[in-house]
Amino acid sequence: MTDSAPLVLFNSLTRAAEPFVPIDPAAVRVYSCGPTVYARQHLGNMRAYVFTDTLTRVLRWKGWPVRHVINITDVGHLTSDADAGDDKIEKAAAAEQVSAWDVAARYTALFKADLARLNVAEPTRWSVATDHIDDMIAFAGRIGGSTYEAPSGLYFDTTTVPDYGKLAGHREDAAAPDVARIDSVEGKRHPADFAIWRKSEEPGRRQMEWASPWGIGAPGWHLECSVMSMKYLGAQFDIHTGGIDHREIHHPNEIAQNQAYTGTAGTGANLWMHNNFLVERGAKMSKSSGGFATLDTLVDAGVHPLAYRMLCLSAHYRSELEFSAENVLAALTRLKRLVIALAPLRAAATPSDSIRHPKLTEQLGLFDAAVANDLNTAAALTHLDAAITAKRIDAGERLAAVARMDEVLGLGLLALERSALRVRPATATLTDDEVEALLAERKAARAAKDFAAGDAIRDTLMAAGVDIMDGDALGWDWRPRFD
Ligand code: AMP
Ligand code: ZN
Repeated sequence: MTDSAPLVLFNSLTRAAEPFVPIDPAAVRVYSCGPTVYARQHLGNMRAYVFTDTLTRVLRWKGWPVRHVINITDVGHLTSDADAGDDKIEKAAAAEQVSAWDVAARYTALFKADLARLNVAEPTRWSVATDHIDDMIAFAGRIGGSTYEAPSGLYFDTTTVPDYGKLAGHREDAAAPDVARIDSVEGKRHPADFAIWRKSEEPGRRQMEWASPWGIGAPGWHLECSVMSMKYLGAQFDIHTGGIDHREIHHPNEIAQNQAYTGTAGTGANLWMHNNFLVERGAKMSKSSGGFATLDTLVDAGVHPLAYRMLCLSAHYRSELEFSAENVLAALTRLKRLVIALAPLRAAATPSDSIRHPKLTEQLGLFDAAVANDLNTAAALTHLDAAITAKRIDAGERLAAVARMDEVLGLGLLALERSALRVRPATATLTDDEVEALLAERKAARAAKDFAAGDAIRDTLMAAGVDIMDGDALGWDWRPRFD
């Protein structure tokens, strides 16, 4: 087999790309900070899970089984990073007039459904914060040497651990954002100290609260991840992931807790990996949700969910990715192109058992080198293109190469139908058949040189949100307008 390039991954701890060596090759252990389930996860959040999915797929492609844990934060994440404000879940429950448990259940289910639509594989374990309150209380009790009580709860003293905040890499200028934090909490000793356990101001008012040695209350968000990652993956596991925002506060705080717990300088994970943000400049597509667009925003506009996966794969996970109608449509077009190019191969053959042709093994080797180079999926996609379009090579072998590459890309290319990629927009007033019929009428009118009639039909279609694409290279005559 050609997949032999050593895997190199960028470690936020050292700010360097490092050869990856598993602690135990029998199972690479990965923990991913999961969603706070007080609202629908937006497309930016989903980028974080397409990234972790790509990472675990690449680890498996390299031959290592993976033990992957994703947590569900259903308590403890406050509306402010300053240890003040409300619990996000409780706030949503009050606004939606349902129980906090219902809020968490609802958005957890929506999140999992979105992952499935993006072909993001299930982790080995979902770990729900409220299922681990006893573990958290026990953990907090064991790090007593690093904690102190203030009127509002139990706090972590960040001066008790070595190199606090090293991951964030900007301790010198950390004073600025932290000033707000010390002002907002009575009895907090240092700006960077953070809540381990927050006492309920009025017990009985919160829906989610538990008795503890520090009063009735709820755990801090950072505590959850230390406790759950250690419980399921051990005190030192392979890779911890999250969005780039977590590099600044959440992960340094997890590391501090881990160090206090083990009494060592170990951070808890050998590699800390962070995906960069999905950003929006045009700001047009966010209107519907009041925040960032969700997967439904795309689907309602007639864009297949896997176009979003393709968009994520076309960029490097450590680069910002701009979300715009143009970029989304380009990703959709790219996906269509692949499906169309594969159709004749799929009609002619089934994937063969072996891949022998040197051109294909070469492309597989290049594909492997790309993904082994800190998950360079953008480069890997070009080798997928090359394998599909390679001339005069047995269709079955080409399909086998595509199937192999798709284990990493997760686009489901051997099962995706061209017709499935035409998603009916929520606002569509015409059925696909009606659109096709009008296009046929327009073609006939133009052939008969009745341009007025042809233009009238075009106007009708445009008014119905249909973009006509005369002469489209992919033979796609029309698409729902998307802006
Ligand atoms: P949250 O539910 O807020 O805890 O976020 C879930 C995950 O999404 C975390 O790993 C965040 O770092 C990540 N995240 C949040 N916003 C974005 C964004 N715009 N682009 C990429 N990742 C994000
Ligand atoms: Zn976390």
